[in-house]
Amino acid sequence: MTKRAYCVHRRDTPEHEEIVFAETPGQAKSKASHLSDDFLDLVCRRDARFDRYADTETVPIAALVAAGWRFECHGAGCSAWVLADDEDPVILIDGKPYCARCAANQMEKMVDGS
Ligand SMILES: [Zn+2]
Repeated sequence: MTKRAYCVHRRDTPEHEEIVFAETPGQAKSKASHLSDDFLDLVCRRDARFDRYADTETVPIAALVAAGWRFECHGAGCSAWVLADDEDPVILIDGKPYCARCAANQMEKMVDGS
């Protein structure tokens, strides 16, 4: 059976979703057991948008952003949320999400070579 993409999150933290590749919803939940010890605490739904990544079981952040996910900025000391259609769009550097301000800082550092 081919693996399919499931979106799993804890009942009390729907904003912390994770994509898991599995053959059944039950298997998806057991693969996401690090989210919660309690099986019944996990909510799982199919997300066919990510099925194409089943081979590698890795969804690129760019694809998640395009699907409407939001990420905490990777910049040091910054906790801004960045998402695809925000006024402050997410910028990926080395595959990590940054807000516009931190991305500018990061670019500067790279130019300086420090
Ligand atoms: Zn930032």
